[in-house]
Amino acid sequence: MKRIAFYGGSFDPPHIGHLTIARKLSELFALDEFTFIPAFHAPHKKNKKPTSAFHRFAMLSLATENKGKIKVSTVELDAPERPFTYETQTKLKNDLPNTEIFFVIGADSWAEIDTWREWEKVLTLTNVIVVTRPDYEIDLSHVTKEIKVRLIDLQKNVAQKIKNGEQKIYITDAVNLDVSATEIRRKIRAKEDDWRELVPNEVAKYIEKYELYI
Ligand code: ATP
Repeated sequence: MKRIAFYGGSFDPPHIGHLTIARKLSELFALDEFTFIPAFHAPHKKNKKPTSAFHRFAMLSLATENKGKIKVSTVELDAPERPFTYETQTKLKNDLPNTEIFFVIGADSWAEIDTWREWEKVLTLTNVIVVTRPDYEIDLSHVTKEIKVRLIDLQKNVAQKIKNGEQKIYITDAVNLDVSATEIRRKIRAKEDDWRELVPNEVAKYIEKYELYI
């Protein structure tokens, strides 16, 4: 059975945190593919106007250009109505019947997961991988018993049990990088040149060429 991870987000812009997650999780979970899914814009993130989906898609394509198993999907951008995550998961499950699917989210998304539409479906339709992030606790108080029994904590014990079979929720600290798109946009606006170190080179050139985030 193929093992594919899908990683949704705004990617505004894609940064080394996102790319490191793709690389490390591909190794750790012995994935056949890792696919970024840029969203129209995160439906639950308020007061935030994202950059055009075309720009965000282009930057992800550049960031993954020479990485054979790391891809970008247009599944959400192609949808006639902006889909919720559980709808995308359902579509992918139907389109990929003989595939073990993993959905990747960061610790900040985990902390607010119960605000997502049909969040219990999001956590049970497919496997989920929660990636820790500095300054974000992985708290479990907001999830139900049915969700808790699925948890497999891989923190500090990576070799533990990455099993086939029933859908699980894995928590991993294999990345734990303090990089955020918000901070990168702030640095660009403030003309703090070290923002370039936080994105792949091709993405930095693209941001400059199209004068994004200024
Ligand atoms: P923003 O600062 O604009 O919210 P972001 O850096 O969190 O952006 P998103 O595109 O919103 O980037 O991220 C998509 C997904 O990746 C989210 O689930 C988010 O939690 C996760 N994520 C982003 N950066 C990291 C990181 N450094 N470590 C772990 N997870 C991350």
